[in-house]
Amino acid sequence: MSASSFSSPLTHPLRRFNHHHLSNKPVSSLFFCSAAKMNGNIHRVPGTTILWFRNDLRVLDNDALYKAWCSSDTVLPVYCLDPRLFHTTHFFSFPKTGALRGAFLMECLADLRKNLMRRGLNLLIRSGKPEDILPSLAKDFGAHTVFAHKETCSEELHVERLVDKALKGVGNGTKLELIWGSTMYHKDDLPFDVLDLPDIYTQFRKSVEANCRIRSSTRIPLSLGPTPCVDKWGDVPTLSQLGLEPQEVTRGMRFVGGESAGVGRVFEYFWKKAKIKPLSSSFLYYDTDLLKVYKETRNGMLGPDYSTKFSPWLAFGCISPRFIYEEVQRYERERVANNSTYWVLFELLWRDYFRFLSIKCGNSLFHLGGPRNVQGEWSQDKRLFESWRDGKTGYPLIDANMKELSTTGFMSNRGRQIVCSFLVRDMGLDWRMGAEWFETCLLDYDPCSNYGNWTYGAGVGNDPREDRYFSIPKQAQNYDPEGEYVAFWVQQLRRLPKEKRHWPGRLMYMDTVVPLKHGHGGGNAQTSRGSKSRGGFRDNHSGRQSRNHLFFEYIGCGFGGLLISLATLFPGTLMIGMELRDKVAEYVKERILALRKTSSGGGEYEN
Ligand SMILES: Cc1cc2nc3c(=O)[nH]c(=O)nc-3n(C[C@H](O)[C@H](O)[C@H](O)COP(=O)(O)OP(=O)(O)OC[C@H]3O[C@@H](n4cnc5c(N)ncnc54)[C@H](O)[C@@H]3O)c2cc1C
Repeated sequence: MSASSFSSPLTHPLRRFNHHHLSNKPVSSLFFCSAAKMNGNIHRVPGTTILWFRNDLRVLDNDALYKAWCSSDTVLPVYCLDPRLFHTTHFFSFPKTGALRGAFLMECLADLRKNLMRRGLNLLIRSGKPEDILPSLAKDFGAHTVFAHKETCSEELHVERLVDKALKGVGNGTKLELIWGSTMYHKDDLPFDVLDLPDIYTQFRKSVEANCRIRSSTRIPLSLGPTPCVDKWGDVPTLSQLGLEPQEVTRGMRFVGGESAGVGRVFEYFWKKAKIKPLSSSFLYYDTDLLKVYKETRNGMLGPDYSTKFSPWLAFGCISPRFIYEEVQRYERERVANNSTYWVLFELLWRDYFRFLSIKCGNSLFHLGGPRNVQGEWSQDKRLFESWRDGKTGYPLIDANMKELSTTGFMSNRGRQIVCSFLVRDMGLDWRMGAEWFETCLLDYDPCSNYGNWTYGAGVGNDPREDRYFSIPKQAQNYDPEGEYVAFWVQQLRRLPKEKRHWPGRLMYMDTVVPLKHGHGGGNAQTSRGSKSRGGFRDNHSGRQSRNHLFFEYIGCGFGGLLISLATLFPGTLMIGMELRDKVAEYVKERILALRKTSSGGGEYEN
C-alpha cells in the first residue's frame, strides 16, 4: 500500500481532497517488515488459527493478527455479521445501527479484505452469531486457537463468554485468546490496577504520563499467508441484505470506511500539501499544517479541518491510537512540537480513560443514575425528544447539530456537548434517550466513549465536578458568531442577516419547544411545558429577571427606528395595518430577549 493509493477519506462540499494532497511517504516503510526478517526469531508451528475480527478492522498494528500469524503457519481471518448488531437499542428500541454506520462498516470489511489479500490472506464473511460460527469453523479447520481483541462492555463481554463456552463444547481443545489492543496506553502498563482508576481524568492523565510509556506499534509482515482453502469466502452484504435502507449523504462530510481511508485521513490531516497555481507558473505545493493549529481550531463545528475526524476509524479499529501517536512524534521531529501536537494525544487519552472507566464502572455506565447512582427526576416526553432528534427545537444551534448528525453520522465534540446539555438540562429528558439516539446514528459510536461522555454531560458520571451547563447564547457567540454553521444546516436561516441567525424568531423560523434554563429568557417560546424546573437539577437563576431592568431606550430606537429596522428585516414586504403591528411586537420582543441574553446574571458554567 502506498500513500498515493488512498482514496479520499472524507469529502465536504466546502472543499474536496484527492490523493495528490497526501504525503509521498510510503506507509509500508512505516509499518511492515519482511516475513523473512521476522521469521528469524519466530517459530511458527503447523496448524491453523482463527483470527476473529471485531472492532479492529485493520492490518497495521494489529496485535491479534500478529499473534495469530506467529502461533501457526495458517491463519483464517473471519468476520461474523452478528444479527444483534442490527436489532434495537436497549431501553428505547431505536435501530441499533443506523444506515450510515452500516454502510461505513461494509466499506471497512471490503477494504480489510483487500488489504488482507495483498498479504496472502482473505476474509471469511459469515452472517450469524460468533458463538455459532466460530466453533463450527474451529471444528472444520481443526483450529487450535481463536484470537481476537478484548472488549470491555457488557454486550461484547457476553458474546466473548458465549464464544468461549461454545468452543469448549467442540471438544478439540480450541482456546479463545483475547488480546488487549484498543488503547494508546496498554492496560497492563497502567501504574494502578484498572479497578482503582482515578475518578478524575486529570489525576489519571498525570499519573499515566509520568509513569508509563506507549508501546511501539506492532510491525506486521508483508506476507501473512497461507490461508486455508475455503469454498466460499462470502460477499460483503448490501445494506438491504442487512435490513437497512441505504442513505445518501447529501450535505456535509461523507466518511469512507476502512483502513486505507483512515490512514489516508491521518496523512491528510498531518502532512497534506495543498496545491495552488500562481498566475504565471506551474503548481506549487504548500503545507496546510492542520496539526500545528489543532488546539486553536478543535472547537469548531463547520468543515472537515477544524479537528482530526479520526474517531469513526478509531471506533472500528481501522487505525490504532498507537499509530497516531507515532505519527505525532514523527511530525514533532520533522515539523514542529507545540501545544497542538500534544493536545491530540491529550484527547486520545480521554478515549483511553473512558475505555478503562468502562471496566471499572461496569454496567452502571448504562444506568439512569450512572456510576454515582444519582437520583433525579427525568422525563421521557416523546414529543420533546422527537423535536430534539429531528432538529426541530426552535434553537438553530441545536437543530443544526442534530441535522448534521442524521445527515452525515458525525457531530463535532462541541456540538455533542451542547445538544447533550440541552436535552438533559433544558428539556429535562432522560439522558439515555440521547445516548441511545447517538448509538443509532454516530459513525464513531463506541459504548465507552458514548456512554462515558453522556454520563459526564448528564452529571451522573464518576467525576462529580463534571456537571456542566452549556448556555446556547454563549456557545453561539463563541463558536458560531457569524451564524455560518447554523445557516449551513438550516436552510431557512440562510437569507437572514448574520446577527439574526441564532435568534430568528417564530416568524422566520419556528417556536422554541422549551425555554432555556440559563442565559436567555426563553426565545420566542410558546413552550409546551412552561418554565418549571426540570430534570432534578438545581435552578440557580431565580430572581434573574427582576435584576434585569429593561428600558425602552435599550430597545433601540423609538417607532421610526423600529420601522427602519423592520424594513431591513423584511425587505420587499409591504406591511400594513395589523401585519405591521404584529411585526413590531415581534421585533420588540426579540430585542428584549436579546438584551436579557447579554445581561443575564450568573449561574452559568464557563464552557
Ligand atoms: C455526548 C457525547 C457523546 C460522544 N460519543 C462518542 C462516541 O460514541 N465515540 C467517540 O469516539 N467519541 C464520542 N464522543 C467524544 C468526541 O465528541 C468525539 O470523539 C470527537 O468529536 C470526534 O471528532 P474528532 O475525531 O475530530 O476529534 P478530535 O478533537 O480530533 O480528537 C482526536 C481523538 O481523540 C478522541 N477524543 C476526543 N474527545 C474525546 C472525548 N470527549 N471522549 C473520548 N474520546 C475523545 C477521539 O478518539 C478523537 O478522534 C462523545 C462526546 C460527547 C460529548
